[in-house]
Amino acid sequence: MPRDFQIPSTYRSEKISTLKTIRRELDSRKRDFEPTVFSFANVDIALARFFGFCFGVENAIERAYQAVEENPNKRVFLLSEMIHNPFVNQNLQARGVRFLQSTEGKSFISLSELTPEDIVIVPAFGTTVELFRELEERGIPFQSYDTTCPFVEKVWKRSNQLGSLGFTVVIHGKHEHEETRATFSHASTNAPSIVVRDKKEAQQLIDCIRGTVSSEDIVSRFSERMTPGFDPQKDLERIGVVNQTTMLASETHEISLMFRAAFLEKYCEEGLRGHFADTRDTLCYATNENQTAAQALAASGGDLALVVGGYNSSNTSHLVELLEKSCPTYFIRDAEEIEDESLIRHLDIHLWEVRSTRAWFKKKSPKLRVLVTAGASCPDAVVEGVIQKVLQMSGDLEQYDQVFERTLERLRVNVGHPSGSLPVLGQG
Ligand code: SF4
Repeated sequence: MPRDFQIPSTYRSEKISTLKTIRRELDSRKRDFEPTVFSFANVDIALARFFGFCFGVENAIERAYQAVEENPNKRVFLLSEMIHNPFVNQNLQARGVRFLQSTEGKSFISLSELTPEDIVIVPAFGTTVELFRELEERGIPFQSYDTTCPFVEKVWKRSNQLGSLGFTVVIHGKHEHEETRATFSHASTNAPSIVVRDKKEAQQLIDCIRGTVSSEDIVSRFSERMTPGFDPQKDLERIGVVNQTTMLASETHEISLMFRAAFLEKYCEEGLRGHFADTRDTLCYATNENQTAAQALAASGGDLALVVGGYNSSNTSHLVELLEKSCPTYFIRDAEEIEDESLIRHLDIHLWEVRSTRAWFKKKSPKLRVLVTAGASCPDAVVEGVIQKVLQMSGDLEQYDQVFERTLERLRVNVGHPSGSLPVLGQG
């Protein structure tokens, strides 16, 4: 049974919470990734099986609100954004919480301005060893409100273990992202470490292992993303791959397999274990679930997809990547981005710019099918707002409560019948 976190009701949607509970009861082993389809007169809304807040995010939000409530007369600071969602961060700022750094590590408030009386919250991504140390040296307590996600800590522990066994840590991540900066910092304390963004960069390291790319070349290409003194000749001889937990899990797996294949070729089966460490156990459950559900959503077919989340949310951008292969996909922060049928504002993840697309929502016969999912830092209430906006445009909003209830009712019939597949969900 998942833990019931105490987070503000403004983030929750009663309907979506009920839906998630029913789907969990129907499929406690999480084997069914089919979306839930709400069938209205003019539109079908297919909602991903898994989406939205994960364990780490709910835990961080709960602790951050507790920090504010438990310390009414103290200054409360966050090391950086709580999570990558503007709605959540603005709510905390409105309660007086101040950010010490930007997501990229740029200082807003110097640590020298803090006193031991202040409260500092560590976000779900964690932070660097250097920053933890500096807080400690200044006598600023952060342990009570350290919300570093246990799944991120697991990556740090595994990196540490790899270092103790003499392996180099290859981190699949975006080196500017705070979680990757934190993981790199923790890994570097005990192991040579290097960050690769994608398969192309991993291939460059593999080419070096195979001797077709020089060490000098690697040092110059990765200079800002490797531990000081990293020697490709020596440090790429024994490696283990970990990741920024929100990267495409399938890509991390592929990168691992690429290294494995290179070492297999070089050292055969007998020598493989000494050069390649199996690290599959560090992948985050929520990232896996949300991405697998997005793949199932894409495979179910749609006329368009809406992916909801903060623009700087890495995991949300990967959901966009998975969906855009199947249909026009719009990455939006909330319902406000939808002007009407004729205009939607959305982030283009390839050009990294906000675009306005016209005539994006065209009614069709018999009906339009809209796919909906959201990143791990997006509140269900924001997702519900987007669904309602779509229904307003399709002319189905009046039926919202009725169709949602009917769909939930049909799902409920199957709870307690583990062999029962999902019913055909629809009107009438
Ligand atoms: S996505 Fe995974 S690692 Fe990141 S906060 Fe959520 S549960 Fe933790």
